Amino acid sequence: MTYLSDLFIDGNWRPGSSGERFDVIDPSNLSTIARFAVATEEDCMAAVDAAAKAQEPWAATAPRTRSELLRSAYEVLTEEVEIFAEVMVRENGKSWADAVAEANYAKEFFRWFSEEAVRIPGDDRLSPSGDKRILVERQPVGVSLLITPWNFPAAMATRKLAPALAAGCTAILKPARETPLTAAYIVEVLRRVGVPQGVVNLVTPVPTGPLVAKMIARPEVRKLSFTGSTEVGRDLLRECAGSVVSASMELGGNAPAIVLPGADLDTAVEGALLAKMRNGGSACTAANRFYVHSSLHDAFISRFADSLTEYTAGPGMERTNRLGALVSVAERDKVAALVTSAVSEGATIVQGGHSHTGGAFYDATLLTGVKHGARINSTEIFGPVTAVVVYDDVDEAIRMANDTEYGLMAYVFGEEREALSVARQLEAGMVAVNRGVVSDPAAPFGGVKQSGLGREGGSEGILEFLEEKYIALTA
Ligand code: ADP
Repeated sequence: MTYLSDLFIDGNWRPGSSGERFDVIDPSNLSTIARFAVATEEDCMAAVDAAAKAQEPWAATAPRTRSELLRSAYEVLTEEVEIFAEVMVRENGKSWADAVAEANYAKEFFRWFSEEAVRIPGDDRLSPSGDKRILVERQPVGVSLLITPWNFPAAMATRKLAPALAAGCTAILKPARETPLTAAYIVEVLRRVGVPQGVVNLVTPVPTGPLVAKMIARPEVRKLSFTGSTEVGRDLLRECAGSVVSASMELGGNAPAIVLPGADLDTAVEGALLAKMRNGGSACTAANRFYVHSSLHDAFISRFADSLTEYTAGPGMERTNRLGALVSVAERDKVAALVTSAVSEGATIVQGGHSHTGGAFYDATLLTGVKHGARINSTEIFGPVTAVVVYDDVDEAIRMANDTEYGLMAYVFGEEREALSVARQLEAGMVAVNRGVVSDPAAPFGGVKQSGLGREGGSEGILEFLEEKYIALTA
C-alpha cells in the first residue's frame, strides 16, 4: 500500500518547506512504513492563510451543498472500508476488528453531520415587554484548528471535521505524529468528493507545541477543538486565553466500572470486556478501575479470566488476532511499568503481565487485589490491563469512583433501577448502564471536571462550531 505523506494546504498536497520528514512506524513490527512531511512555521502560516481565505465563501455555501459533500465522503468511506481500516492497522497497530469498527464509527460522523448541516436552529421571540423581536441566528465561529490523538486516528478527525464543515467553518487538521496517514487519507477523500480549496488543510508541525501556539495566536483562528491529554489541554487553554479563542476540550479519563451486588454476571462480564478491551484498552473511555462487589468478586474474576484468553495479541493484519499492538514501544513500556507498580502495591496477576519483543505488544492482563488509590488506579492505563478492586458497601464504591479529578466516563452493572440511581450519582459526562460501549455519533460525547469542556456528536456537536448572534428588531 502506498500512503499519502505530504501536507495538504490550500487544495494541494505538498512537501513541507524544509523538505524534512519524520518516520511513521508500524508498531506491530517496528518497521518504517512512510516518511511524513514536517510542517514548518511557514507551512502552518500558509495553512491558516488558506483556511482564512476560504472561510467567507464556505460560510456562504448553501447548507445543502455542504451537507451533500459530507454525505459523499460517508459513501466513499463505506465503499473503501478495507483501505480505510488497513491504514489504521498499519500506523496505529490496532487489531483488524478494532480498525473496521473505528472505520464504521468514523464515517458515521460524516453522515450524521450531513443531516445536521441543513438543520441549524435559530430563534425568533417577542421580548417580555413586547417592545422588540429577539432574533437569534447562528453563524460559523470561523477558522477552526482541530488537534487529534493517535488512539482513534479516524474517528477523532471525523468527529471534528464533520461538524466544523457542516457549520460552515474551514479547518486545519493537526493529527498526532504517530498517525498522520489516516488523517491524510480522510483529507484526500474530502478533496476527491469536491470540498473546495482551502476549506480543509492538514499540517504536522515540528516542534508541535510552539507551532500550534503560533497558529492559535493568529487572529483568524477562532476555534480550537482538541482531543488529548489533560496536561496538554491545560496548556492549550492558556494559549487560547491569549486571543480568547473558543475551546472545546476532550481530555483524559479514569473511568470507573462498578459491578453492583444485583448485577447479572453474564451481562457484567460481557460489558466489562468491551469496556476494557475495545481498541486494546487505548481509549479515554476505557474502564480503568473496576469496583466489584465482594458477593460476585470470585465468580466475576474467573469468568473474566476465561474470556480474556480469546484476546491473543498479534499483528492486526492477521485478522484473527483480537488484540493489536500498542502504538509504540514507549506506550507498551508505560503499561508494563504500571503493572509492575500495581504488583509492588499488593496486586496479584491472575493472567498476562508480559510484553512481547519485536512489536509493541502487551498481553491481555487481569489484576486482582488492587487497592483504591494505587498508582494504576489514578493513572490512565491506555492498555489491555484490567485492575479489580473489591468492595462491600455501594456508597463506598460510589465515593471511590468519584475520587478523581477526571469525569469522562463511568460504567455501572446491576439491576436497572439501582444502576440508574448510581449512574446519577457518578461525576461523569457519560455513564453506560449494563453495557460496555456508549460511543454514538448521535449522542453528546464529553466529560466533566478535568476531562473536558464541550460536547462532540449529537445535536450538541455542531453548536461548538457556531456562535449565536442576537439581532434586535422593533416589534
Ligand atoms: P496522547 O496521550 O494521546 O498522546 P497528547 O495530549 O500528548 O495525548 O497528544 C494529543 C495531540 O496533541 C497530538 O496531536 C499531539 O501531537 C498534540 N500535542 C502534544 N503536545 C502538544 C502541545 N504542546 N501543543 C499542541 N499540541 C500538542
